[in-house]
Amino acid sequence: MPSGIKYCYTCDADEPHRPLTGPENAWLKNRTGQKNVDGYFMCEAPKCRNIRTGFDKHPFDPVIRVPLPD
Ligand SMILES: [Zn+2]
Repeated sequence: MPSGIKYCYTCDADEPHRPLTGPENAWLKNRTGQKNVDGYFMCEAPKCRNIRTGFDKHPFDPVIRVPLPD
């Protein structure tokens, strides 16, 4: 299984994930109030963009999705 393929809680399937970009990291810090948001991944399935970590398929309840860039 390719390393980027992880289970997505909201897709209920194994989907490609990628690390967050710099602006997405900044957005997530602001969104969650966490000082360190390293280790989060975003589901790349169309229209999903749900966030998980490498270890936790469901770190946020309700789930957090990365907004589309402007
Ligand atoms: Zn997904």
